This record gives sequence, structure tokens and C-alpha cells, in this order.
Amino acid sequence: MDEKKDLTLHMTKKGTPAIYKNFPMVPRVIFGVGCFDQLGDILLPKRKNSEAPIIYLIDDVFEGTPLTSRIPLLFNDKIVFISADEEPKTEQVDALVLMIKSEFQEAPSGIVGIGGGTLLDMSKAVAIMLNNTGSASKYQGWDLVGKPAIYHVGVPTISGTGAEVSRTTVLLGPNRKLGINSDYTTFDQVVLDPDLTKGVEKDQWFYTGMDCFIHCIESLNGTYLNAFSQSYGEKALDLCKEVFLGSLTPSEAREKLMMASWHGGMSIAYSQVGVAHALSYGLSYVLGVKHGLGNCLVFQHLEEYYPEGVALFRKMLAQHQINLPSGICRELSEEDMSTMISVSLSMEPLWENALGSSWKTQISRDTLKKIYRKI
Ligand code: NAD
Ligand code: ZN
Repeated sequence: MDEKKDLTLHMTKKGTPAIYKNFPMVPRVIFGVGCFDQLGDILLPKRKNSEAPIIYLIDDVFEGTPLTSRIPLLFNDKIVFISADEEPKTEQVDALVLMIKSEFQEAPSGIVGIGGGTLLDMSKAVAIMLNNTGSASKYQGWDLVGKPAIYHVGVPTISGTGAEVSRTTVLLGPNRKLGINSDYTTFDQVVLDPDLTKGVEKDQWFYTGMDCFIHCIESLNGTYLNAFSQSYGEKALDLCKEVFLGSLTPSEAREKLMMASWHGGMSIAYSQVGVAHALSYGLSYVLGVKHGLGNCLVFQHLEEYYPEGVALFRKMLAQHQINLPSGICRELSEEDMSTMISVSLSMEPLWENALGSSWKTQISRDTLKKIYRKI
């Protein structure tokens, strides 16, 4: 599963020798309302020649909207609209790469991903696979990518996942859900224009925003915590509190949530997530529940592990009148429940971060089953 081998890359427990992770950061970022309109200028020096297009992978929620007319198309640039209804798959990445290779003689000058975590992950993967052979599924894992990706730009339109800063792209492969974790995955450029998040529907805004909040709680309460992670995690948590419990104007809230997502992503890059993500992976694997919602469904029942975080979460739910769906696992067969539990327990670094090296003595299959049955 996604975070499994991270143990060797991440900080280990306090006081023990660690293999310190030397991880890449996004080298260029532009932030501010309306900065999306500078995209054309940003891309110009990256264009190899008039035959090497920029390919824009855009969430199809924007098809026919004014955003589309602001795309700085030149020469034979191409727009591909992609649905974010389902999380990205390796076969989708393979099909996109094939389409691009067969349509254009020259390799593209760059890939620009515009959307939420789904589109950002898809774009990272396509940029990698345009320079590497075989199926994307071959590279799911840690540091399996041989050649650098082509130039790729991330433009988030919903805030929370931290996918804009991370060195992974989470993909559903033929037999597993696992990220392509590599130094080549990270974007070369990120465009943070808070106004692009204007149209996000309220429940989705909350779910994806809570992904960020939960990243902070899990990172700050984890045994892998270190000063690097803490500095980003605390800032992100403060921003989440302002956004979800304060009384900001909508434009302030958009700006601050965008920065919370960034800092939350930076925080987990150098620590790890915890119990909510471990359980949420199980939900997503067996029932296809999307990441943000899955985290919320699980987190509400984790007061034993994160008492202060869950109390804040409940306040946030109430303040925004969010009613989470219920009864999701009530009818689940014993077989599916067992798979869900196994998937969750396989996320060992997450459990170790949350509960320490003796986590196996604190968690049983029955503990997990009781939590899942509440959802
Ligand atoms: P998403 O990309 O799945 O989008 C959620 C919904 O919001 C979609 O219906 C989308 O069309 C809509 N939407 C997005 N922007 C909009 C806008 N401006 N206006 C109206 N609607 C808009 O949401 P997400 O929560 O950002 O991403 C979830 C994905 O991110 C999952 O696939 C998860 O695995 C991945 N993820 C990746 C990382 C990473 O580090 N790579 C981290 C966490 C999650
Ligand atoms: Zn997350």
C-alpha cells in the first residue's frame, strides 16, 4: 500500500539513528489572486519549439467555463478534460501517454494539470510516463523511476490534499493502490491562485479541507514528529482553525486554506500520517470511498487516539452544518470487512507513527472492526 516502504525514507523514532530523507521541494511557485493569468508567460521559456505542445489535463468540471478561455493555448497545444469522479488509475495514465505519443511527433514541452488531487496526481504520472517505458503500474512503489519526468506544472483548484507539494502520485493499479513515489514526481512549478477554488461545492470543500486538518493532527501527534514537520504542521493547523472555526471573508478563507494545504503537505513529507489515513485506505480500497470523505468518516470515531483533534473536528462539522453519510459499513460482508482490516493493518508506518513501535500490542483486528462498523 501507499505509504508502506516510507519507513526507510522517513525519520525513525526519536533517539535512534535515522536515514534522513533528502526530499525534493517544488522549485517554483506563484501565489496570488489572478496569478493563473501569468501561466502563459511562465510556460513560454519552457516551449521547446512550435511542434512540441503543452498538454493541459483539466478537471472536466471546468469544461465550457470561463477558466477554459484563460488557458494560454499556442501552436498545437492540447486540452484534455478528465473526470475526477474516480481516483486516478494506472491504465488511464497509460492510455493518455499512448494518445499523446501517437498524436504528436515531438515529445510535449510540458504537462499542466488543473484540478484537485485527482488531476494533480494524473498529471504527475503522465509527465513521468512520457519519459519512461512500459506501464505506470511498473513504477508504483518507491524510487523505481529511472528517467526524469517532462516539465510539469500543478494548478490546484480545490485545497487540502497537499498533492501540489508531495513527491507521490497515488494511483489505482491492476492489483493495488500505490503511489509512484520518486524525486521526479514533484512538480517543477505550482500555480496557487485562490480564486480557482471559488466554485467548489460546500461538502467537497469541507472533505478535502479536512484532509489537510487531519494531516496536521496525525503529523503533530505522531511519534515521527520532528522540528521540520512540526513547524509546517503547526502553521497549517492554525490556518485550518482560522478557516473552519473563524469568521474570515470567503476570499481570506480561500487564500488561507490554499496555504494550509501547502504547509500540511510539507509537514507529512517529513513525518507521516496516522490512524485515520490507515483506516481510510481500507475504506477506499474496498468501497471506493474518496480520500477526503473517507478520512472524515473515520476521523469522527477516533477520539481515543486524537481527543483534541476529534473535538475540533466535531465543532467544524457543526459550524458548517455538514452531515456525513452513515451506515456505509453496516451491511458489509465479513469477507469485505476482513479485506478492509487487512489493507488498513498493512499500512505499518502509519500505525507506527501513530502509536509507536509497539503498536501491534495496542491494535487488533477487532479494534478496527468496531470502528468500521460505526461508519
Ligand atoms: P478531487 O480532485 O477528487 O476533486 C473532488 C471533486 O471536486 C471533484 O468532483 C472535482 O470535479 C471537484 N472540483 C475540483 N475543483 C473544483 C472547482 N474549483 N470547482 C468545482 N468543483 C471542483 O479532490 P481532492 O480531494 O483534491 O483529491 C483527492 C485525490 O487526491 C485522491 O485521488 C487522493 O488519492 C489524492 N491525494 C493525493 C495526495 C498526494 O500527495 N499525491 C495526497 C492526498 C490525496
Ligand atoms: Zn490525506
